Amino acid sequence: MIAYDLKCSQGHVFEGWFDDEATFLSQQQQGLIVCPICNDSSVVRIPSTFAIRSAAGGLGPEGREAESAFRRVADFICDHFEDVGSDFAKEALKIHYGVSAPRNIRGSSTPQEEETLRQEGVAFLKIPVPAAPESDA
Ligand SMILES: [Zn+2]
Repeated sequence: MIAYDLKCSQGHVFEGWFDDEATFLSQQQQGLIVCPICNDSSVVRIPSTFAIRSAAGGLGPEGREAESAFRRVADFICDHFEDVGSDFAKEALKIHYGVSAPRNIRGSSTPQEEETLRQEGVAFLKIPVPAAPESDA
């Protein structure tokens, strides 16, 4: 079994468990994965995160610094980029071709959409989403 962090088009984040990646992809394609909060079946996988652990054990000072840096990045993006949800690729293309007003946007995209963006020469950045803090203990 593997666990994926998933997000619906309304921005709800939840975890899904699957036998393997192929099972996830086929369930996603058939719309069998639904958001437990709003029942939306337009669900995408959030780019996987990486884990860090300091030499001293636990997060350590460097880990805590990395965590707060990540959180500042996440806050900055929330404050300065409009959330377009799963319409990211569509909006990015519209802006690229001058159909939509140029602005900062953030959202999710499928690997196929990302390939389209690359082919169209639309630059974008993918960032890992920091996991929720465990606790401050
Ligand atoms: Zn939802």
